[in-house]
Amino acid sequence: MASSGGNGSKQRPVVTRFAPSPTGFLHIGNARTGLFSWLYARHHGGKALLRIEDTDKKRSTQEAIDVILDGLDWLGLDFDGETVYQSQRADRHAEVARKLLEAGHAYKCFATPEELAEMREQQKAAKQPLRYDGRWRDRDPSEAPEGAPYTVRIKTPTGGETVIEDAVQGRVKVDNREIDDFILLRADGTPTYMLAVVVDDMDMGCTHIIRGDDHLNNAFRQIQVIRAMQGIEEGWEEPTYAHVPLIHGNDGAKLSKRHGALGVRDYREMGILPETLFNYLLRLGWGHGDQEEFSREEAIALFDIDAVNKGPSRFDMKKLLNMNGNYIRKADDARLASLIAPLIGPEADETVLARAMPELKTRAKDLNELADGAAFLFKQRPLALTEKAAGLLDDEARARLASIAERLQAETDWTIEALEASLKAYAEELELGLGKLAQPLRAALTGQTTSPGIFDVLVLLGREESLARINDQASS
Ligand code: GLU
Repeated sequence: MASSGGNGSKQRPVVTRFAPSPTGFLHIGNARTGLFSWLYARHHGGKALLRIEDTDKKRSTQEAIDVILDGLDWLGLDFDGETVYQSQRADRHAEVARKLLEAGHAYKCFATPEELAEMREQQKAAKQPLRYDGRWRDRDPSEAPEGAPYTVRIKTPTGGETVIEDAVQGRVKVDNREIDDFILLRADGTPTYMLAVVVDDMDMGCTHIIRGDDHLNNAFRQIQVIRAMQGIEEGWEEPTYAHVPLIHGNDGAKLSKRHGALGVRDYREMGILPETLFNYLLRLGWGHGDQEEFSREEAIALFDIDAVNKGPSRFDMKKLLNMNGNYIRKADDARLASLIAPLIGPEADETVLARAMPELKTRAKDLNELADGAAFLFKQRPLALTEKAAGLLDDEARARLASIAERLQAETDWTIEALEASLKAYAEELELGLGKLAQPLRAALTGQTTSPGIFDVLVLLGREESLARINDQASS
């Protein structure tokens, strides 16, 4: 079982981490692995930690970090404890490299960049794999010129293989000859990403590393650091790895800009509810029977890593929007009102919106659509009509609006049923379909050609406002 499997992490309380790099947005693929990490920890009563991998100084602005923190907060992923910032831990990373050096598990490499470039050229020409050839592995540093700069490289095993029992991918292995002696510390003494990640994972006590499968190759390298440190410090236990497949677009290609929105914020701006994205990301590559929608509590109770698909999952915008429509209909009316009021403008009244919400929300697939459908409530008379709406109001239509106003004026019972009966009777007199009357009426009442059901509109606007709006457009 995934929870007790892996390479030696049995029986430890679960600690997961989500380790995004601030790139200016929270990619939904990352958000999904963040969700899985968080859910796994919650399911097992463990800890879900957050680490910001902000070692790329140029990209890691506070703004870029805030985008991630806001996105996680919006999705409701509350991580435990203090957020760890990788950039603040460079001294510790370097300390581990020095310890490995002292213990003989790492060595100084004095090869110059030019020399390494030449080495790669030769490997390329000989059609050999490009990897460091270990030229300083067995040489004595005294052979290097006085004061020459050096990198610190780990001594990786030259024979055998490294096996990972991945909780998603299953057993994966690599011939150790494929793992070169990679750099731990650069010539300027700064730690490499490969070193920083694994030192942080171990110091944070992570038992489970759930991340994108683009990091699978890194795992084989990171394990070498763990194994080398085992005789040096306590607590370097191999975690269980779970490498989750990437998300693909609907066409099967890796999700990219051309598939549209990529960031969590984009979906928020499109009017997707956080619970929709939470559920959609959960369902992307994970399932529980035929069930489509899960509350947070259900997700926590049911989620486990062994039910995550090994194959890539496809992002389907249509499905997401349909799901969002369902969540909008389930959502609390007052909450929806407060979400869409700012989208409508200062004239929007949340109380009015909340009251109208049961009718308004029956069709909308996103909050922008919901706001568009509600805007008519707050329009000032005489209404500015959209071009399409104005096109519906020819002379004949305006004359009919006048008759409709007359009939509705006489209506004492301002309910959907009564209004419907009254308009139906008129449509029958004219030997017209109800739609033919409803269209110009909708244009007059809302200024638009789409809206909630026409009788809902009449009831939501109320008698006085409805009649006034109709009369504004009717021919006198
Ligand atoms: N920071 C890496 C990323 O955003 C993830 C590193 C990891 O999970 O090990 O892709």
